[in-house]
Amino acid sequence: MNKILLGCIADDFTGATDLANNLVRSGMRVIQTVGVPTEDLEHDVDAVVIALKSRTIDSVLAIEQSLNALAWLKKVGAHQIYFKYCSTFDSTTQGNIGPVTDELMKALGASFTVVTPAFPDNGRTIFKGHLFVGDLLLSDSSMRHHPLTPMKDSNLVKLMQAQFPRRVGLIDYKIVAKGSQAIKVKISELINEGISAAVVDALNNEDLIQLGEAVKDLSLVTAGSGLAIGLPQNFNLKPSVSQSRLPHYAGQRAILSGSCSEMTLKQVNHFKREGYACYALDPLTLSQRPDYWQEAALWAKQQFKTGADPILIYSTSSPDQVREVQKELSVEKAGSLVEQAMGNLAMALVEMGVGQLLVAGGETSGVCVQSLKVNQLQIGPQIDPGVPWCFTKSPRNLHLALKSGNFGREDFFTYAWSVLDEQNS
Ligand code: ADP
Repeated sequence: MNKILLGCIADDFTGATDLANNLVRSGMRVIQTVGVPTEDLEHDVDAVVIALKSRTIDSVLAIEQSLNALAWLKKVGAHQIYFKYCSTFDSTTQGNIGPVTDELMKALGASFTVVTPAFPDNGRTIFKGHLFVGDLLLSDSSMRHHPLTPMKDSNLVKLMQAQFPRRVGLIDYKIVAKGSQAIKVKISELINEGISAAVVDALNNEDLIQLGEAVKDLSLVTAGSGLAIGLPQNFNLKPSVSQSRLPHYAGQRAILSGSCSEMTLKQVNHFKREGYACYALDPLTLSQRPDYWQEAALWAKQQFKTGADPILIYSTSSPDQVREVQKELSVEKAGSLVEQAMGNLAMALVEMGVGQLLVAGGETSGVCVQSLKVNQLQIGPQIDPGVPWCFTKSPRNLHLALKSGNFGREDFFTYAWSVLDEQNS
């Protein structure tokens, strides 16, 4: 195996795919692994993205998993480590972004790192340390209703400081606009002031490219997927189309949606309006009858027999409906019941002949990939910013698209398939 240039640790599966997508588009050959690899990599690559499911688990466990990932990446010689979290900084005051960053810094002997969830191509920008989602502050966006990590503040310095034991500072847009040299000087000043992590403003891709150059010598960077566009240049790598070609697809097409994010809700409604076959999975029925998911599997089988394709099974609900369910069951119980059902359904769908599977929701994608026992994903063409088609050959050939809640256009569930069709035409 060749030496890995960039070693990445992502706190969820869709986030890992999003990062891998940006790295591929900026010139790196990338493999995404599900958890810490236990087998050899299937290809020679420049970067490995280890996908964990550590965003909302207990911080002690999240640290343990992240340190295991780091140990593997160090073993294969990674020059730089990239800790990837969500572009909406999904976390609570307990973490896990802060505690994991702190422990990775300790393990790497790093005295400083950057914190930037910015992803301008997807409308996530940072101005004076405040995170915007499109035109709205994070705390005014639909993220304030997230079932697991409701984001009620937009000030990233405050959000990070609340969960990080060292001092947090800011590199604002005025410095960033001056370019990589000015950012480097500011980093030195912050280190002298005893700051260990700095939130970095970024309003556009150029800001991230300048930041990428400025962080070349940091052993650890922490970011959303956006910073990835600025890193391959540090290793003299350039983009090429052939890096994203996937094998031919086969089999039926299905969508599993466990995301309750605003955009997913629109995508589900669009799919329904277009007249495709849809099955609503009710969390309360799941709590009464754990094998209720099998009814959805049976429904899918019948739909395929009648020629329906693609089909959708969803638990996606409005914030009010989610609140009702959570009041009845608790946040954790509702989340885990739906996730478990989605994992079972992913297995059942693939067993009945689905060869192209689209999953909506970060946590939901995590359980689906785990229950499918997928170990490595080859990254293919981009559907929308942050969401590529991927391919796995083990345990069986499957094309997968893992969509983070708020990503993708409104017609994503009908449009995504055309990207594969185009590649294979
Ligand atoms: P996103 O990427 O939009 O954040 P996730 O899959 O990461 O989506 O998170 C959604 C969480 O909400 C999951 O834990 C999922 O099981 C849970 N969930 C899904 N549908 C419902 C529902 N109808 N009521 C309550 N919780 C739900």
